[in-house]
Amino acid sequence: MSCIFCQIIKGESHAYKVYEDDLTLAFLDINPISDGHTLVIPKLHESRLENLHAKHSDALFRTVRRLVGPIQVAVDAPSSNIGINNGGEAGQVIQHIHVHVIPRDGSKPAWRNELKRALPRSGEYFKDVVQKIREEIES
Ligand code: AMP
Ligand code: ZN
Repeated sequence: MSCIFCQIIKGESHAYKVYEDDLTLAFLDINPISDGHTLVIPKLHESRLENLHAKHSDALFRTVRRLVGPIQVAVDAPSSNIGINNGGEAGQVIQHIHVHVIPRDGSKPAWRNELKRALPRSGEYFKDVVQKIREEIES
């Protein structure tokens, strides 16, 4: 297995670990967007959230919730962005699912202002897409 995050879990590669429990590990991002930028991972190799067993996704988000406050306080940032690049088209580079916790102090623009919004949508668009998603949830 050549996955760098699996190597970090096994202690074969170095990381600045901030927290560890039976199911999850958190460590500093090697190329941080901001001070305190932390990655939280399950101790199981899975690339995408939809394929992660509920036991591991529950543990993953429990750890994110546990750490976000202390991370913000530690770097004196009042806020943070919390996100997953879920798949290559969304920008995922490391194929081991990870949650980015990126402390934000307002000195850089919020990501929502960096991504262009789609043009205003019609009522037809909302009705069509909400129906498709509901059908997929039930199927
Ligand atoms: P993503 O685009 O969501 O796959 O992000 C991968 C993240 O992993 C990037 O923010 C990298 O800076 C980070 N990264 C890559 N290798 C390491 C490493 N060995 N230790 C810590 N962070 C890493
Ligand atoms: Zn892995």
